[in-house]
Amino acid sequence: MASKNVPELFGSLVFNDEVMRERLPKEVYKSLHKTIEDGKELDISLANAVAHAMKEWAIEKGATHYTHWFQPMTGITAEKHDSFIAPVSGGKVIMEFSGKELIKGEPDASSFPSGGIRATFEARGYTAWDPTSYAFIKEDSLCIPTAFCSYTGEVLDKKTPLLRSMQELSKQAVRVLDLLGEKAKRVTSTVGPEQEYFLVDRKLYEQRKDLILTGRTLFGAKPSKGQEMDDHYFGAIKPRVMEYMQDLNEELWKLGILAKTEHNEVAPAQHELAPVFSTTNVATDHNQLTMEIMKKVAKKHGLACLLHEKPFAGVNGSGKHNNWSISTDKGKNLLDPGKDPKSNKVFLIFLAAVIKAVDDYQDLMRISVASAGNDHRLGANEAPPAIISIFLGDDLTAVVNAVKNGDDDFSKIESVPMHTGVDVLPDFMKDTTDRNRTSPFAFTGNKFEFRMLGSTVSIADPNIILNTIVAESLSIFADELEKADDIDACAMAICKREFKDHERIIFNGNGYDEAWIEEAERRGLLNLKTTADALPYYKLQKNVDLFVKHHIFTEVEVYSRYEILTENYCKTINIEALTMAEMAKKQLLPAAIKFVTSLADSVAKKKSIGIDVSNDAAFLLADKLSKLINIMYKKIEDLDNAIIGEKEVEEGQPLADYTRDTIITAMNELRAVADEIEVDMPDEFMPYPTYSDLLFKV
Ligand code: ADP
Ligand code: MG
Repeated sequence: MASKNVPELFGSLVFNDEVMRERLPKEVYKSLHKTIEDGKELDISLANAVAHAMKEWAIEKGATHYTHWFQPMTGITAEKHDSFIAPVSGGKVIMEFSGKELIKGEPDASSFPSGGIRATFEARGYTAWDPTSYAFIKEDSLCIPTAFCSYTGEVLDKKTPLLRSMQELSKQAVRVLDLLGEKAKRVTSTVGPEQEYFLVDRKLYEQRKDLILTGRTLFGAKPSKGQEMDDHYFGAIKPRVMEYMQDLNEELWKLGILAKTEHNEVAPAQHELAPVFSTTNVATDHNQLTMEIMKKVAKKHGLACLLHEKPFAGVNGSGKHNNWSISTDKGKNLLDPGKDPKSNKVFLIFLAAVIKAVDDYQDLMRISVASAGNDHRLGANEAPPAIISIFLGDDLTAVVNAVKNGDDDFSKIESVPMHTGVDVLPDFMKDTTDRNRTSPFAFTGNKFEFRMLGSTVSIADPNIILNTIVAESLSIFADELEKADDIDACAMAICKREFKDHERIIFNGNGYDEAWIEEAERRGLLNLKTTADALPYYKLQKNVDLFVKHHIFTEVEVYSRYEILTENYCKTINIEALTMAEMAKKQLLPAAIKFVTSLADSVAKKKSIGIDVSNDAAFLLADKLSKLINIMYKKIEDLDNAIIGEKEVEEGQPLADYTRDTIITAMNELRAVADEIEVDMPDEFMPYPTYSDLLFKV
């Protein structure tokens, strides 16, 4: 492994800038670059030349097919493969790929969710090349990253709104920078997503219907050894896992994905992979690919990679930390406080924009990470609570307070005593933000770390929201600054006002503390505990207005997205409920009855030869389990009835509410008794692998 030449391997399956420079005619290369930089439309002769070069390159790398690779609302990626072959006379074929095929594809859109936008008779949708994300080869196909729309122009994917939100953030940020005397042509948001996952033995995985069908265990008593010992975190990586990680890294590197760090996580069998950050849309493509390849490589190693947010009850779930920042085309990070943050007006204005945005749109932040799976984490004292707040750390909070209470002139703001005792610090924040792990949105030196994401979520969702809401703050500031006579005074006034108005969203304390929930309520912060609680906020007029103003979604698109998310929530839990009922009826209940019968047989035998069984262990256990089995039977019936009851409930919000209140309650009750039975079941009677097997036999 170590002998492999990583620089040579890196990006070897990517049609990247270097390959383009090498293979495209100079003029074509230059105009393509210009098109990418200015976001202009591509002309067909250019596309033809690029397509030709791409095809030649792909064929040399062994590809036979091409596919438009896109990100429909299912949250995972989709592809439709066409081969390059075109028939020519004499029964022969040639390998062809035109500019038209590169720019535009026409997958059948009817099988992808549209939330009622696209009537099924108008099944046509099209994919359009996103030249800002490089094409790459996966298996035998050239994959072309694309956006996915309906023919009537509505967005059907996650990529298009993400690109729009990046563009809008750039536009508004450039306006503000321009007014502050800072020149920039473009501003981009950057993201580094840290990805958590579990690895379990594949043979064991395949014996669990719940893992196969729902991605998580629906039953399972806690093992005697859990994560109490804290011995897994940063512990030595097991050889089999190490081999997996090395293989995974290589596969990712070939695709130009900057996989950088890997370590064990808190829970047994849990691990993390972090890439070096990149532009948001590229980071999104790469994170989708990373998740896909994690699963594929696992299979090769006899493992199964679990990306569910909560594969095991009672064991830490998996999240994804979305490290987010904004920088200019000149490479300046706008969230870098520099040496003296209190007189760094660019930093303060952008900080104010983020603080205002997060407070005004707590609901959208929450919705952007809402899913049935993530509901198990948020608020469960392992992930941040469902309440949105911002952690700034003591030093930056002191700066914010000084601005809020201070003079009207940046240069005259009172000195802030820093923890080191000097008020001008080299590399201000770098090591001063203590690692507050309980904050949903923490400032970490020169970026914000959004920590509420579940491990499966497409990072497009939270980043569409982050980009859009910050663009909104910036657009308001720009409007004000444009009218001001004294720009500096106006900028100062804006910072003062926003720091004052949005003070409530800043919280540096322990987010797991019960007292915080009450405090947050006093502050008037939202606490949207479940997905069903959060989703209706999507349709609030202020949110619709926001999306429409910044051309992210039309009103119709917002409503359709709400519908898709709601339906997805109900469907996910419905599948879990059905799987649970089936496993209970066909597996655990019969197994428990069988065990009790064997106990009863033994008791009967003993009794027949005159042994006193009134205090016999087998007798007592059989008695205890019999009672639990009866309860379990009743709970199965309750769950069945709850599932049948769904048919009576109107789709949409009523069904989401019913799912949360009735289905999930019935599932929890069945699970509680089933897990109690499992504790007393001998291994040989268990119909599927237990938590100990899954978590420790890797
Ligand atoms: P840790 O959280 O383990 O201390 P780092 O602070 O180095 O690690 O970074 C975590 C993630 O944040 C990495 O993926 C890193 O690339 C990313 N990151 C660093 N700087 C930026 C930035 N300016 N924009 C977006 N992500 C960033
Ligand atoms: Mg982190």
